[in-house]
Order: sequence, then structure tokens, then C-alpha cells
Amino acid sequence: MSEPKNPSTVSRRGFLKALGVSGAGLLVPSGAAMAQDGTPGPDDGELATLLDLSKCIGCGECVNACRESNAAKFPEPKKPFPDPIPSRRAKNEDWSEKRDVEDRLTPYNWLFIQTAEVEHKGEMLEINIPRRCMHCRNPPCANMCPFGAANKQQNGITRISDKLCMGGAKCRAVCPWHIPQRQSGVGLYLHLLPRLAGNGVMYKCDRCHQLVARGELPACIDVCPENVQTIGPRAEIIEQARKLAAETDGYIYGLEENGGTNTIYVSPAPFDKLDKALGKTKSKGKGRPHLQPVKDVMADETNLATATLLAPVAGIAAGMLGVGAALFGEEKNGPKEDGNER
Ligand code: SF4
Ligand code: SF4
Ligand code: SF4
Repeated sequence: MSEPKNPSTVSRRGFLKALGVSGAGLLVPSGAAMAQDGTPGPDDGELATLLDLSKCIGCGECVNACRESNAAKFPEPKKPFPDPIPSRRAKNEDWSEKRDVEDRLTPYNWLFIQTAEVEHKGEMLEINIPRRCMHCRNPPCANMCPFGAANKQQNGITRISDKLCMGGAKCRAVCPWHIPQRQSGVGLYLHLLPRLAGNGVMYKCDRCHQLVARGELPACIDVCPENVQTIGPRAEIIEQARKLAAETDGYIYGLEENGGTNTIYVSPAPFDKLDKALGKTKSKGKGRPHLQPVKDVMADETNLATATLLAPVAGIAAGMLGVGAALFGEEKNGPKEDGNER
């Protein structure tokens, strides 16, 4: 079947169906990025998003839509929290009384808007930047999770299972943008050794996996009045990003960063200027990711060796924790056939 070149120009809901995407967990757009000899290439099946920053007016509709669409996935912690032993171990983190915070990433806010004012080519520009998980092609958060709780799906979505995560925050430490955010008092650790191991669950954008699995658009993309975001097979998104950058004399972020991500920004001003401007207004820091160049974390030999060692351990841990989750009346975070997964 022929594929539409720009999914945002076809029916917005159900556009993935138009691409030939079906099934729940393994989303593979038909014919996506096949190598010339017909063998599957490294991009096969991965969906990427393109964000045209010249269009974003900072209205925040996407932030609201994300919160509404994903509200059922947000944590409902039990209090008081167990005190970690020793006390200098991971501190409890509680966002449950600050659920309305919208100017940074939290367990209850997986998307926020940064605004940078920069001078470029003699003009002052105000650029709004929707920020969330970059959905890296080779995500250290998933490769380095000791419990196998974070995983990358074949369709390019990286997810953290709220049923398996122990809240140790390794994913946040190794993520170049420190995206995942912890909520204590929730998750499997409460049933195991709550004072000795674990500290909650890590949360971040899961790219509305349940909507994508049904062939629908992620909520933030669907609601945007300016059509800032486009989603589609990675090869096509990259082609569009390069074309847009060439036509607008713009700049691209996400092609090289951390070895390549499935979130690609195109901006009318250079990203080093945006990053500096964010630093000046304190829009960068904890829960507010930077826009700097990022080396491929998993190309580091130590990280690669750690990930290789962890892989079987994480598999066993995930299996055991999965049994634990089942025993405690919870289930592994996999798509349900009825599409009602949280
Ligand atoms: S809804 Fe669209 S225009 Fe509004 S802030 Fe989000 S990305 Fe920007
Ligand atoms: S941006 Fe961070 S949290 Fe998201 S996939 Fe990459 S490493 Fe993981
Ligand atoms: S893709 Fe879904 S989960 Fe991610 S920021 Fe957009 S609305 Fe939120």
C-alpha cells in the first residue's frame, strides 16, 4: 500500500490505521523504512514525532490534553511513606499534593512548555518548546534498569511499567535529560522490602501507547490547534524534518542526540541559543530538561558492559517481580486486548 507522506494531512484520528498500523503491542507501519534489498532496516517499525517549533504558540492545550488523557495512569500513593533505611538512601519524593504543577515534569505532568526568548538574525524570537520524553532509539533508561521495568517497544515507544518499577530512579540518573520523575508510596516495593529496597514508581510520557495501539493519535498531537506535531514512520519524519529545516533555514535537534531519538525538533533559531536562554530564566534544571548536544550514552563501554550484564538479571528480576505483582493482585503492564490498559 502507498503511504501518505504527511500523516497530519490525512484523517487525524485513525491516521495510524491509514499507515497500515495494527495490533496492540507491536506496531509496525507497513513498508516503513525497508532497506533497498527489502531486508528490514534499523528503522523498521519505529514511529517518530516531528515538532515544528515555529508553529507553537505556547497555548498549553497539549499539556491539558496529556493530563486528562493519562489521568487514570497517575499514582495514588499510600501515606505515610515508609522511611528508607539508611536514611541517606533515596529520599521520598511526593508530588501528590502538587498535582497542578505545570511548569516542569512531575509524575502528574508528563509534558510542559519551555519558552526561550532569543535574538537571531537581528530579530527577537519567542520560541515555545513542548518537552517530554525523547523516546530514544537506544534508551539508557531501558537498557540500564536493573529490574527490567523500562522497555522500548518495537514501535519506538519507551515505557516504564508501573507494576514492575521499584522507583530506584536509575532511569532518571542515566537519562541524558533526566526525564522520569518519582512518586513514593506507590508500587511493588510497598509489598516487598519497603524500607530497604525501592522508593516508589518512575513516571514519564508513554506516548499514549494505548491510543497508538488503537491506531489513534497521542492526545497532545490530536488536540494541538497549530498542528505543531506530526507522527509517522521514522524515516519519513526525518525526511520531513530535513526538508523543513532546509526550507526555513532552521535547526534540528534529535537526529544525533544520544545516538538519535524518536522526537525531532525543528527550530528557527539554533538550539545552543535556546538552551542558553532557558538557563537565564531558570527554565532549565530539575524536571526541566536542557537542549544541549548529547553523546550516545550507550556507546560508552562501561554502560554497554553494565547493560549486557544486566540484561539477563533484569529478565529474571522482571519475571520474579511479575510473579510478585500477580500475587499482589496486579499485572504486568502489557496491552490488554480490550484496550483498557491504564
Ligand atoms: S497545543 Fe500546540 S500550539 Fe499549543 S502549546 Fe501545545 S504544541 Fe504548542
Ligand atoms: S529521553 Fe530519557 S526517559 Fe526518554 S527514552 Fe530517552 S533515556 Fe529514556
Ligand atoms: S504523547 Fe501522550 S503521554 Fe506523551 S506527552 Fe503527549 S499526551 Fe502526554
